[in-house]
Amino acid sequence: MKVYNTLTRKKEEFVPLEEGKVKMYVCGPTVYNYIHIGNARPMIIFDTVRRYFEYKGYDVNYVSNFTDVDDKIIKKAVEEGVSASEISERYIRAVKEDMEHLNVKPATVHPKATEEIADMLEMIQTLIDKGHAYEKNGTVYFRTRSFPGYGKLSKKNIDELEAGHRDIKVAGEEEKEDAMDFVLWKPKKEGEPFWPSPWSDGRPGWHIECSVMSKKYLGEQIDIHAGGEDLIFPHHENEIAQSEATNDKEFAKYWLHNGFLNIDNKKMSKSEGNFFTVREVGEKYPYEVLRFFMLSGAHYRMPLNFSRELMEAAKNGLERIITAVEKVKGLLDRAEEKEISEEEAGFLSQLEQLNEKFDAAMDDDFNTADAVSVIFEMVKLSNTQIKETSSKEVVQKTYERLTLLCNILGIRAERKEELLDEEIERLIEERQAARKSRDFSRADEIRGLLLEKGIVLEDTREGVRWKRA
Ligand code: AMP
Ligand code: ZN
Repeated sequence: MKVYNTLTRKKEEFVPLEEGKVKMYVCGPTVYNYIHIGNARPMIIFDTVRRYFEYKGYDVNYVSNFTDVDDKIIKKAVEEGVSASEISERYIRAVKEDMEHLNVKPATVHPKATEEIADMLEMIQTLIDKGHAYEKNGTVYFRTRSFPGYGKLSKKNIDELEAGHRDIKVAGEEEKEDAMDFVLWKPKKEGEPFWPSPWSDGRPGWHIECSVMSKKYLGEQIDIHAGGEDLIFPHHENEIAQSEATNDKEFAKYWLHNGFLNIDNKKMSKSEGNFFTVREVGEKYPYEVLRFFMLSGAHYRMPLNFSRELMEAAKNGLERIITAVEKVKGLLDRAEEKEISEEEAGFLSQLEQLNEKFDAAMDDDFNTADAVSVIFEMVKLSNTQIKETSSKEVVQKTYERLTLLCNILGIRAERKEELLDEEIERLIEERQAARKSRDFSRADEIRGLLLEKGIVLEDTREGVRWKRA
């Protein structure tokens, strides 16, 4: 399997640190608002990467954080007159709902920055002790020039960076030894959330969070570190400096970065205001269409332009797949058990070849767009070959093969049957009863069942509310 490594700017053969295992860390969102579909791109892409590794038999330990303390969260809390944690908890819940809709599997662990402060204090202290960091008036800075490899990921030269930085003085950071030094810990301002530390009551910088959470949940060395390409510099460059200066080991072997989701060829971003939230798009199109668009529209490292035309094309393409899968599924019960004909045997071997072609596309740095084309080829073949008279074994194998490939991409290829209101109410009652008798697995199962049918539950103080997604 070949993966493109930003660190070497090459496609490389994937060799895991530990046989049969993949340790991967994906930088997660800062939770101060609903996520936009640009933020959803890395979630969908790296969830698909994970699914493919799992299909290949790897045991994947997938860690993705929530940055739940940050200037933007605090600003929003002040605007609404609530605590910062109320804001972050609200939007963590929302992200998790969006992920469920997009069929993004929950990470093995979703650590939150605010729950890992003790480990951050420890890493910062280690960096100070080793001469890689220093404190000035309660702020701790990383001594960038003390790390010889600085710039190796972004291919930036520290002297050139320095020249570009000289006239940019960040307010309150005049005491830095060097313009390139970045913050590991900063003192609180009035009214901000804070944690005690040997240097000041304050909070961590953004970069140190990921170095610490990655180490805690995956170890000092990991296979894959991923995120959007805007994170290459400074975020990932700084993570490498902190982690390698602390552990004296190579931090991550492969660095994977997705290209931007654009609108009118400009990066979708909150600060520019040119964004659609996942929820907004979900009101116009089924969520599966959004996922399918992300995977079929372009290679993950390329820019992808969001447009109505491309979403319509994705909708039609997905519909074609679902129709084929439904047809085969419908024939499953009716098909006769009989000897496979010679023609059918040929068809089965063609199916197998297509599966291999699918794997080859994914083995080539996760080329999901090509993998989707292979699914279309399989759909076409199935449409012409599977009929009322096909033998059961052939129908079964076609169904399994088609759904297998769709599942690897996280595409739900089944039509949702509409549930009647009474059926929903009955299931909700059953779920409440299950929870009362502490049968939480049944309760979760019912929630999942409803979600599959597009029904979202919301537990409120007044009881359970539901809505159609
Ligand atoms: P943020 O909350 O801004 O830190 O972003 C969370 C994740 O979304 C990061 O991996 C970003 O690189 C990624 N991201 C943000 N905007 C876009 C975009 N327009 N296209 C693709 N990825 C993005
Ligand atoms: Zn990160």
